Amino acid sequence: MKILVINSGSSSIKYQLFNMEDESVLAKGVVERIGIDDSFISYENGNGQEITIEKDISDHKEGIRLLIDTLLNEDYGVLNDMDDVEAVGHRVVHGAEEFSGSVLIDDKLVKTMEDVADLAPLHNPPNIMGIKVCQELMPDKPQVGVFDTAFHQTMPEKAYIYALPYEFYKKYGVRRYGFHGTSHGYVSKRAAELLDKPYSELKIITCHLGNGASVAAVKNGKSVDTSMGLTPLEGLVMGTRCGDIDPAIVPFMMNKLDISAEEMDTIMNKESGLYGVSGVSNDSRDVEDAAAEGNHQAEVALELFDYRVKKYIGAYTAAMGGVDAIVFTAGIGENSIDSRENILEGLEYLGLKVDKEANNCRSKEQIITTEDSRVKALVVPTNEELVIARDTMEIVSS
Ligand code: ADP
Repeated sequence: MKILVINSGSSSIKYQLFNMEDESVLAKGVVERIGIDDSFISYENGNGQEITIEKDISDHKEGIRLLIDTLLNEDYGVLNDMDDVEAVGHRVVHGAEEFSGSVLIDDKLVKTMEDVADLAPLHNPPNIMGIKVCQELMPDKPQVGVFDTAFHQTMPEKAYIYALPYEFYKKYGVRRYGFHGTSHGYVSKRAAELLDKPYSELKIITCHLGNGASVAAVKNGKSVDTSMGLTPLEGLVMGTRCGDIDPAIVPFMMNKLDISAEEMDTIMNKESGLYGVSGVSNDSRDVEDAAAEGNHQAEVALELFDYRVKKYIGAYTAAMGGVDAIVFTAGIGENSIDSRENILEGLEYLGLKVDKEANNCRSKEQIITTEDSRVKALVVPTNEELVIARDTMEIVSS
């Protein structure tokens, strides 16, 4: 069975085609700069052949059409017929309270997704557009929606209610939803497998540290808390997002700068985080380079990033009444040896001892604590696309 996975953004469409017999990736890439100048599709097939096709791509429909043509190409394609594809799985960022698991998409569900779209105005509309275009171009293929918020729907009310008037929640849906759920679910489960312990008996803290970053507390296989909130802005310091701040700063700075709510929102989402504090870049590697050259703001940005993760580990250990494993994933979690070491430094009181040699690794599954460490830390590369493909296969098979 072959499954196409689509992650449709406002100007890009990431895709992967899986052969589910052995879960191998037959082809993957990105359609980029849709509706802008210099649009192109990058494509890599399972034989390691990589190509880029530059072409005007004015909208998502043209983008998906080009993707289909590429997959079917006689020279470098991997399909003879689109009928070989059984179903399409879509990443959807916000499922609100309507979706606590993956679903087979019909018109009614598209309408529900549109209804909750105001909670994720940047993400959901392009996700929905991707779904509609695939429905149009591949009308006989089942389309499945997999939601970033779904894994966190098990949080107890005390973890998801904000201490605001309760009617904000009842009337407007203002509550913690959490994101990166597909990743937190995948890496926590994988950690249990690597530790050879039952998932249903473990207390795991998962740290998804990429450009967007979040922490989750996973107790007995269920998310019980997570750092992102109503939107992906809350929690950790991120590439360009501020994470937790005193909410009173918002009206204070809006008055000082005489700016609108939208402008303040842009500053907190796009001009803050590693980028805002360092003044250098949102990319942690650039910030690390600047810090190594003695740039004070870059040093502070990195310290702040690691310190915030450490604080959440402390909080979630308390919330779960202990911790068995701490998992690192995504760009920084998988690759930054220094960041992992700094985050875990001083957690000996929990019973955690870092194995420096083991921690000297990138992008591979690895336990990075010593044999006698009571609490384990691990690196587990995330694979959200595979989870989407698995969910899609399960739904269309049943
Ligand atoms: P996104 O949230 O966009 O999916 P990623 O998971 O790709 O983000 O993470 C991007 C971050 O990971 C960037 O800050 C980047 O610097 C960092 N990163 C990626 N590769 C490395 C590496 N080899 N060493 C250190 N940091 C890395």
